[in-house]
Amino acid sequence: MSLANGRPYLAIPGPSVIPDRVLQAMHQGSPNIYEGPLIAMVESLWPDLRRVAGTVGHVAMYIGNGHAGWEAANANIFSRGERALVLATGQFGLSWANAARAMGIEVEVLDFGKSTPADFARVEAVLRADREGKIKAVLTTHVDTASSIRTDIAGLRRAIDAAGHPALLAVDCIASLGCDEFRMDDWGVDVMVAACQKGLMTPPGLAFVWFSEAARMRCGRSDLATPYWAWGPRIDAPDFWQYWAGTAPTSHLFGLRAALDMIGEEGLPQVWQRHRVLAGAVWAAFDCWSAGNPAIAMNVATPSDRAHSVTAARFGPPHATRLREWCEQKAGVTLGIGLGMAASTEPAYHGFLRVGHMGHVNAHMTLGALAVMEAGMVALDIPHGPGALAAAAKVVAGGAL
Ligand SMILES: *Cc1c(COP(=O)(O)O)cnc(C)c1O
Repeated sequence: MSLANGRPYLAIPGPSVIPDRVLQAMHQGSPNIYEGPLIAMVESLWPDLRRVAGTVGHVAMYIGNGHAGWEAANANIFSRGERALVLATGQFGLSWANAARAMGIEVEVLDFGKSTPADFARVEAVLRADREGKIKAVLTTHVDTASSIRTDIAGLRRAIDAAGHPALLAVDCIASLGCDEFRMDDWGVDVMVAACQKGLMTPPGLAFVWFSEAARMRCGRSDLATPYWAWGPRIDAPDFWQYWAGTAPTSHLFGLRAALDMIGEEGLPQVWQRHRVLAGAVWAAFDCWSAGNPAIAMNVATPSDRAHSVTAARFGPPHATRLREWCEQKAGVTLGIGLGMAASTEPAYHGFLRVGHMGHVNAHMTLGALAVMEAGMVALDIPHGPGALAAAAKVVAGGAL
């Protein structure tokens, strides 16, 4: 017997749940891409994209996913042979480093492991030792979606400044934009990368790079910036098609317009607060489950180091995989696999999962996912401490005051 029929809930950390309003906005035929309403609609996107990032700087849009965003940033920041310092707090930092290396950029990785935050003293020491200023930019994730570690970006900027180093600060906000508080200009971020399918609630297909005017001047014309990737025409397109170096992604633009309207109507501070409260409910549930079974644990020990959009956890193999399968097959909730913690061929792989709580999520979705997880633990005889659902409900009740 399955109780999964009804509206399914994809609680993985991206792609996230797409609001009906976004889907409906996308459901229309091809518009004229040379003149008419599309042109004006697209002009309305730029100020809202700046607002959601907290910047008065530039934004370039690409047809692509997060990986495309990484390449776009890399290609414009660096010329071949220039050096990047990459901070890794999980799989995504390492992957950004690999992409840079493959493009001919010299990469130094500071790997902080899979469950501890970046140590800014180490970053500062590396920058101080770089007396010739060879490091052009520091690259980091705001939220590493694999580990669910959140990096204190303002603190990182202070460390770069304390070292007296001119490196640019480039941040991957793919899993945090529209979920976790982020203030590009206030925090001294020079370049920021995001994509549309997580906090921006639009199906995968758009990547963005925001950059300050100072960063644009510092980067000049990189020899990696081929015509498709170059920032230039994408921020100042003499002809409309040049924003995308070709045909505009029309359906996605309609969807993005609707998503940005939803964020604007709720208000960005309220969006951040909703994510804080829902994350708090998830954490409260895990604290109770862990109390009865130490094999159950959140990946990140300190709450202030945790993302508000995703929670990575362990259940002791093979229980994470068993629980994921039960939740999907019996109750219509799909949880995320563990990523970058163990190879999918290793038994340990089956001990990790992630709960997504990003984008178009509300209290009943998060409480529902937690209740389904608890039902799965009961059904599968996975030992767990009591009180998780009451604790999560209490957080939601407090957050809704
Ligand atoms: C999802 C994600 C990516 C990769 O995005 P794709 O769209 O899968 O290419 C990169 N960085 C972070 C932090 C992410 O969450």
